[in-house]
Amino acid sequence: MDIIVLRPEATDEALKHLLKKLESKGLKAHVSKGTERTIVGVIGDTSKVTEEEEDAIRVMTGVESVMRIIKPYKLASREFRQTTLINVRGRVIGGKKIAVIAGPCAVENRTLIMNIAEKVKEAGASFVRGGAFKPRTSPYSFQGLGEEGLRYLAEAREKTGLPVVTELMDPRDLEVMVKYADIIQIGARNMQNFRLLLEVGSVRKPVLLKRGLCATIKEWLMSAEYIMSRGNHEVILCERGIRTFETATRNTLDLSAVPLLKQLTHLPVVVDPSHGVGKWDLVAPMAKAAVAAGADGLLLEVHTNPEEAMSDGEQSLKTEAFAKLMEELKPIAAAVGREI
Ligand code: PEP
Ligand code: MN
Repeated sequence: MDIIVLRPEATDEALKHLLKKLESKGLKAHVSKGTERTIVGVIGDTSKVTEEEEDAIRVMTGVESVMRIIKPYKLASREFRQTTLINVRGRVIGGKKIAVIAGPCAVENRTLIMNIAEKVKEAGASFVRGGAFKPRTSPYSFQGLGEEGLRYLAEAREKTGLPVVTELMDPRDLEVMVKYADIIQIGARNMQNFRLLLEVGSVRKPVLLKRGLCATIKEWLMSAEYIMSRGNHEVILCERGIRTFETATRNTLDLSAVPLLKQLTHLPVVVDPSHGVGKWDLVAPMAKAAVAAGADGLLLEVHTNPEEAMSDGEQSLKTEAFAKLMEELKPIAAAVGREI
């Protein structure tokens, strides 16, 4: 018993009674009130609920049906909900319009992030990105500006109106992150940092959850479930390429994940071709393919001077190339019933 659908005429009284019943069995509930029906998602170990107990709930006043979700991820599953729209300062992710998140890999300095934010906005991006805390392979590489970087991002948002997407690596930075970011990114290397997932699950900010370097789709959805199990249901999945035997590209961008996720989950799916391929001249074709495959958004690394970038310059689009790509994406979006 994982999902309880209430009758259209079910009263608040009946709902309250049902929630009490679940509580008495040590279960929690997520109530989602739709336009026609209220659906109660049962959270906790429902495998211990016996068939008799399930039947008793089935006949309660106001209850229409009781279903079990076989999948180990319940809240993230398509059975639980059809679609999720995430509204960030008026920009919707998961709707008809494709959300474009663009900006440098790292916030390197104030001038740079302000300039890039202006340029990507002009070209039609709806979010600005930039890392203030950078997960670098070498401890000697640039690690990001930390809170100073977050402040510059907030300034860029003030100037352009673009909401900010930036990565959180450590729960100790959550408080400062919540102050500045609009969407919290969980990087590929932290996709299974379960404590971190639970922490971002306890705040009310959308989370962009990148796919782990070696994560299966199921593991990825289980990580989304971790976040959602704490009550934060605003999770965006971001395909960013996985490790395969192929070394000619930085990663192998798994675009089949997009239509597959559309079957498995109601969460919006964004594609990051920049980290997916690692080479700037392969980014535009893969961005187009991602849109054609049904992605709800794109995450693109853009820099005014990639040659001088402190990280990921080789995969960053110049601002002009980004603007050109945005134009070229329009007919592709239209062909699949979307807008950009
Ligand atoms: C990034 O977005 O700059 C980043 C570090 O991405 P990933 O976690 O996918 O490697
Ligand atoms: Mn990067």
